[in-house]
Amino acid sequence: MTRCHRCDAELSAWEVRKAEELGSPPCWCNGVPPGIPLTLANVAYSELCHAGLTRPVKIHDVVRFLSHKYTWNLRYSINVALSQDKRFCWAGRALYGLARHGLIPGVRSLAEAAYAILLAAPRRLHVEEVDFVLEQFNYRFNSDSLAHHMRGYTTNRWNLKFQIDHWNEVWINAGRDARHEYNAKVRVCPTHLAFDSWLEDHLAPKVQRTLDDRTRRLADLKGGKIDIA
Ligand SMILES: [Zn+2]
Repeated sequence: MTRCHRCDAELSAWEVRKAEELGSPPCWCNGVPPGIPLTLANVAYSELCHAGLTRPVKIHDVVRFLSHKYTWNLRYSINVALSQDKRFCWAGRALYGLARHGLIPGVRSLAEAAYAILLAAPRRLHVEEVDFVLEQFNYRFNSDSLAHHMRGYTTNRWNLKFQIDHWNEVWINAGRDARHEYNAKVRVCPTHLAFDSWLEDHLAPKVQRTLDDRTRRLADLKGGKIDIA
């Protein structure tokens, strides 16, 4: 993943591409660069690039950041601006951030986020493990709602299919064609080639580290090293 030279933040392929289109540096942690149109999306992007921001924010907080810069029907327009611009990553209901906050580019729903985790997973995962990884990646959601998606009780806009067994272990078809079909719909990366290498070099090791962390925490819990209170 590309990083910002100034703040060292991880940048998604969409952030890099948009910057190329606009002829600007790819991270706006120093504000909107001179000569860039002050559209709602551009101003919101520079606010989310702020180095002090470490996790996704509620749309109403983005509105609060921008209220001194914009006066028109902000609440409606900001929803459209954030959901349509691929620099922004969905993190839960009315919650948005950037790739640097742990989120998966292109994803716009819980099912899409869970599917990406399973594409990168080293093996079948328990529903609780998918839950843990998503939470560590800064997604905010209802665990029951995740379980309903895994069991196929809830449909999703791309008709992504999850397989689940009696032990609550979940998997998906992670073959090359299925992978590329997912990227064609969700658009995590602009090209399938970029998606494959992002999955292998970035997401898979990150999912593995998170699962290892969970195993370690559970072992500590059993060993009495962690005080739950
Ligand atoms: Zn930066």
